[in-house]
Amino acid sequence: MKKIQSVRGMNDLLPEDSPCWQYLESTVSDLLSRYGYGEIRFPILEPTELFKRTIGEVTDIVEKEMYTFDDRNGDSVTLRPEGTAGCVRACEQHGLTYNQIQRLWYQGPMFRYERPQKGRLRQFHQIGAEVFGLNGPDIDAELISMTWRLWQQLGLTDVVTLQLNTLGTSESRGSYRDALVAYLEQRKDQLDEDSQRRLSSNPMRILDSKNADTQALLNDAPVLHDFLDDESLQHFDQLRGLLDAVGIPYEVNPRLVRGLDYYGKTVFEWVTSSLGAQGTVCAGGRYDGLVEQLGGRSTPAVGFAMGVERLVLLLDAAGVVPDSIARQVDVYLVAAGDVQAEALKLGEELRTHCSTLRVQNHCGGGNLKKQMKKANESGAIVALILGENEVASGEVAIKFLREDKQQQLVSVVEVANFLNHKIFNQ
Ligand code: ATP
Ligand code: MG
Repeated sequence: MKKIQSVRGMNDLLPEDSPCWQYLESTVSDLLSRYGYGEIRFPILEPTELFKRTIGEVTDIVEKEMYTFDDRNGDSVTLRPEGTAGCVRACEQHGLTYNQIQRLWYQGPMFRYERPQKGRLRQFHQIGAEVFGLNGPDIDAELISMTWRLWQQLGLTDVVTLQLNTLGTSESRGSYRDALVAYLEQRKDQLDEDSQRRLSSNPMRILDSKNADTQALLNDAPVLHDFLDDESLQHFDQLRGLLDAVGIPYEVNPRLVRGLDYYGKTVFEWVTSSLGAQGTVCAGGRYDGLVEQLGGRSTPAVGFAMGVERLVLLLDAAGVVPDSIARQVDVYLVAAGDVQAEALKLGEELRTHCSTLRVQNHCGGGNLKKQMKKANESGAIVALILGENEVASGEVAIKFLREDKQQQLVSVVEVANFLNHKIFNQ
């Protein structure tokens, strides 16, 4: 019978790869809680209308990337393509933004029907943060500092750079859009096909076209910043001042626009050149109009989302995941002969007294040679060998698996201490 395969673009995460994910996820969640962010969880499935109204009808996501279907009741539902819309919906539904400041974060799978390739999947994972109720550049700077600290902790500062731009208010952006369209209409035949289509639907997206000829054409096009309102420009200057003050390097990229309609004022992306075309690892910005657009009270908001798969690729390439995390077992307990009960008891005692160590009991029997082979394959640092002789003398043999050191006998009552202080230095 033909075996069933996973849906294209939707990956399994295997145990040998999960330590890197866990390392990233726990580093991020610790960091977010150190800045006072609370975790929010909301459904993977939402009413389709939510994404149409927030992300925008003529964006790539809504036009061609959403997993949308009717449920058994005939209601149109969509697998979330991103987290901001669901986060805002949840906050509004529970009154979280009413006269309150909220600093929130979320993580989980997102779904987009895209062409799968390295760093681009149909089920991918994001970790995101959103702040509601603050309109100054200080909170924009806080979010960016948080990501900067994360790259420092992960050892990735050398491979990512920050690109920054401001999109102004929707009115000022509107007058720029008109000027851009007027300029490009006259040169329409020189535009790539995608950009021609966007000229009437979403002209600002032409600015981040990957086509070299289109980019060249844009060199003489009107410049966004010349059209922006004073308040947005001042916000942007203040943000730059704050980033300079805390020493975060950035590049102003006047052509940085985001693929979703709801952004205004600050936008930013952390990009890398190590992942080919999938170069953005974290992206965000301000979206002051979104809460109101969903029927709430006018509430300033800003946030970002990072792509977990792309960060895992960077971590793997940089080889920065600590050994102690990549390793899944520290101590392997070998039970040679009729000593199963003693081995189980010893395993439990070690888990009680060596609480940070990962102890694996050998199960399934077999001779000493076979068990030692498993011990080696487990990645453990030491094997504890319990045989009938050891049980009789109240001892256990410690064999070092990763260094050339003499095997040693230790009394059973001492072994937890020995592991803690002599081998793992806890
Ligand atoms: P891109 O330009 O690469 O398509 P995007 O602008 O569509 O990205 P966002 O909607 O801003 O991406 O999502 C935030 C982050 O989520 C991206 O910077 C990226 O790291 C990650 N991401 C987005 N789409 C995918 C995908 N299909 N597969 C893997 N990661 C993704
Ligand atoms: Mg995209």
